[in-house]
Amino acid sequence: MAYFDNNATTRPCEVALAAHSEALSEDWRNPSAPSSSAARVRVKLDLAREKLAACLGVSLDTISFTSGATESNNAVFSHLARASSTLARVLLSPVEHPSVRESASRYFSGRVDVLPADGSGIVDPSILGPALDATQVALVSVMAANNETGVVQSWEEIAGMCRAHGVPFHCDATQWVGKLPSGQLDACDYLSASAHKFGGLKGVGILKASAEVSFIVGGEQESGRRAGTENYPGVAAMLAAMEESESFVETPILEKARNAFEESLRVSIPGIEVLGENVSRLWNVSALLMPRFDNFRWVGKLEKIGHEVSTGSACATGKGGPSHVSLAMGLSPEQARRVVRVSGSRETTPAEWSALADAFRLAHEELQDDSLSSEIISI
Ligand code: PMP
Repeated sequence: MAYFDNNATTRPCEVALAAHSEALSEDWRNPSAPSSSAARVRVKLDLAREKLAACLGVSLDTISFTSGATESNNAVFSHLARASSTLARVLLSPVEHPSVRESASRYFSGRVDVLPADGSGIVDPSILGPALDATQVALVSVMAANNETGVVQSWEEIAGMCRAHGVPFHCDATQWVGKLPSGQLDACDYLSASAHKFGGLKGVGILKASAEVSFIVGGEQESGRRAGTENYPGVAAMLAAMEESESFVETPILEKARNAFEESLRVSIPGIEVLGENVSRLWNVSALLMPRFDNFRWVGKLEKIGHEVSTGSACATGKGGPSHVSLAMGLSPEQARRVVRVSGSRETTPAEWSALADAFRLAHEELQDDSLSSEIISI
């Protein structure tokens, strides 16, 4: 099966698996235990934190390890709900991941403002100034790159405006980290990421937050911010994956293969549209508005011919209803149900993108034949 659902999760990369397996067999002790063997694990954990902070360009004392971006996002909103005035509001982009949207509504019920976005789902930073002047704002949360479309937000500019107004800025960088350079992420006061989106393992992630943020109570792990025995093997794997992704990514080449795929579909499937095609996007994603047939039929047909793609966000699957991201981009509910997402990885070759284009062409023909035969009425 050719795998094109890397925005849902990536296959763990070899270096991450090797680091994990070594840590599980050698460094399995509890880093907080008093033995000298346990202290060695503590030293390795601290070193991993240092290296990850350096990769992200953020200061060491702001990094906590979490179970992933969902936990990190929840932690940010629960902390700010406790730390800010009960009148303060939060401002979100309309295309945030459910873990941001739901955290905002849970912890700031009735005090959530969704910012307007254009047809690509991008928030114009210039609308933020008046909003920041007019309201008491506890937090602005705008993601770096969207999980369904890959569309990149002007998060650096938004971070600068928030800083100028003294308002904290949170960026869900889950789809950015490991795909685009992380050097400027220090501009965000709060930042979330998950290891399994860039070749690491599930259940490990990062929260960048100031040192006073404490979100899981119990033991004194993570400087008292996040209690619970640290997952050093998971962290070791995350570091290995991060270092590999930082050194490996050659985005122009990868982007060229994705673009050639889109070009080929425009020829073979008339009427197809690429969401966000004219704006800055991640190099690995195509969100395709198909001219006919709902996305589950496309996904099913493509899977039968050996290609695993997606209807959109795995986290929204099962909730039913059209994607809030597509709706925010101005699509009708009916159009939103025709969006198919394909997402490659740094390992996807041009030949694999080209084979995917062939698979789409075949799926299109078969879906048309299926629908013709269902229209034939025997008499
Ligand atoms: N934010 C974004 C943008 C994501 O794509 C995801 C994963 N789909 C998450 C947060 C949540 O990540 P996890 O499921 O690893 O907690």
